[in-house]
Amino acid sequence: MANFKVRSTCMLILSLLCLFNPLYYRAEAAPSLIAHGDGRAKVVALTFDDGPYPIYTERLLAVLDAYDVKATFFLVGVNAASHPELVREIARGGHVVGNHSHRHLSMKDLPEEDIRWEWQMCSHTIRAITGNLPRFCRPPGGGYNDTIVSAARKEGLSVVLWTANGADYTGISPKAIERRVLGAVGPGGIILLHEGVDNTIEALPVIIETLHSKGYRFVTLDKMVASF
Ligand SMILES: [Zn+2]
Repeated sequence: MANFKVRSTCMLILSLLCLFNPLYYRAEAAPSLIAHGDGRAKVVALTFDDGPYPIYTERLLAVLDAYDVKATFFLVGVNAASHPELVREIARGGHVVGNHSHRHLSMKDLPEEDIRWEWQMCSHTIRAITGNLPRFCRPPGGGYNDTIVSAARKEGLSVVLWTANGADYTGISPKAIERRVLGAVGPGGIILLHEGVDNTIEALPVIIETLHSKGYRFVTLDKMVASF
């Protein structure tokens, strides 16, 4: 009985500590699905999917550096494993590294254990290279359902969608990418673009300069979520 009382008291103290520990609380409070940031703040998050890719990643980082803009990169596990030096370069630049699955398969067709494996393998690959587990993920193609979101949650990941899709993977011109992004983005916006596309790199300076001139600040996803 005395043992039970001691255990109960310990559990109560632990629960209270967890509740009032800001780090723990914030981790628990991070939503499972993030569709946009705070709509009252003039902040936007640039996100780049599918990398890393030799040459393209370096060119993209050079543009971001020139404007002192930090972004979030959703990396494919096999690409990260093939080019760990590029993953390190992204992380060293102060950008956030996210999980874009291990093999970039459509997750909607996969059973839950395979979906979990995809998240796990990519996260472990990223941790082996950068020392940190990612907190954010995006399913390939952006297609999601409850199983995909809950499998991500079990791996400590929040699924991130977007508010402005550059559609840069369709082969449209830099001007068309600019128009699509600038026409759709607003406060708390999340911009979807891709690595490995020349026209994206060409469109990026205009996107950044236009949004800067309108008073927007570029933030990484962790900063965007911290303001929730
Ligand atoms: Zn993708």
